Amino acid sequence: MTSAIEKFINKVGKAVGIRYDWQKAEIRAIYDTPFLELIYQAATVHRQYHNPKQIQVCKLISIKTGACPEDCSYCAQSSRYKTEVKPQALLDKQTVANIAQEAKNSGVSRVCMGAAWREARDNSQFDQVLDMVKEVTALGLEVCCTLGMLTENQAKQLEAAGLYAYNHNLDTSPEYYSTIITTRTYSDRLDTINNVRQTNVTVCSGGILGLGENVEDRVSMLHTLANLHPHPESVPINILSKVQGTPLENQPDVPIWDVVRMIATARLIMPASDVRLSAGRARLSQVEQALCFLAGANSIFSSDNGHMLTVTTPCPGYDADKEMLNLLGLEMRPSFVGREKATTEVVV
Ligand code: SAM
Ligand code: SF4
Repeated sequence: MTSAIEKFINKVGKAVGIRYDWQKAEIRAIYDTPFLELIYQAATVHRQYHNPKQIQVCKLISIKTGACPEDCSYCAQSSRYKTEVKPQALLDKQTVANIAQEAKNSGVSRVCMGAAWREARDNSQFDQVLDMVKEVTALGLEVCCTLGMLTENQAKQLEAAGLYAYNHNLDTSPEYYSTIITTRTYSDRLDTINNVRQTNVTVCSGGILGLGENVEDRVSMLHTLANLHPHPESVPINILSKVQGTPLENQPDVPIWDVVRMIATARLIMPASDVRLSAGRARLSQVEQALCFLAGANSIFSSDNGHMLTVTTPCPGYDADKEMLNLLGLEMRPSFVGREKATTEVVV
């Protein structure tokens, strides 16, 4: 019988099409492919859909920090855990625009504005976020927001303000979700993604490795993402940043081999999507990151202040990242490259 990966091997060289009918067993077979073969296949498919010289560098701005009512077991910002994070009210538009401009000057082409909210509310704070989206978009940057749950109407208002992407991670499998978060459900998550899909705002959705999940959970999460139609244009693969004070503070490290397998599998089953090597990158060596790029990761988050979202999530700095990209012969991708992708996909 021909295995899933053998079917891929037969297709590679022709152009692997985009599918939305993935079976868990097929995804598992890809995830379990001998390591070097898996990377080779992923690198080959990556070159069919993306410019392999380009990496998109993104900057996360925490526009509202901490005091979140949700109980996500990994998160430094949940009010239920005693962490080092100091709550901070919504930043003003000018502060956000200044950080975004500075990031742009350093080669960043996408800015993600994150708020520690359960959901966006129809209030003056949401209006302020709409203003920030307008202001930062006017700088020529791709703007992504991650504000928690969103109604269709709120998604439409963000679209009208010029929003490019909305992030809403699934984090883990539907089966494991309630072990990690009890204050909302998996279908709440999918509902928000569906609300964003009623607009032209692109979807950013991925997950976290290292929550105590097993390989079946990883496959199940990828299965959910890869059967969304269309696929999320952006798929962040986070590695748990272990935060003192949270229930997951003592989780074992995720082996690099698992990180690379996850990236390669995401690349093969969602070939046109950007795969972002996100939280947890600070603990990877340059060589390990190079392996991730070879396996199809084409984006990183970088920062001027040494942390990604809050003080508890470390992130490499702009200069160190520029040095790494130079070393690897890679360049920073400008904003809005591939905007047309979602509508030009090949369906097999
Ligand atoms: N409150 C919003 C929400 O949950 O959708 C947005 C902010 S939340 C910080 C955005 C994402 O960051 C989460 O979905 C999760 O995937 C990721 N994240 C948060 N803390 C993390 C950690 N300690 N390690 C890895 N990823 C983390
Ligand atoms: Fe709140 Fe988001 Fe953190 Fe969950 S991940 S506790 S929703 S900020």
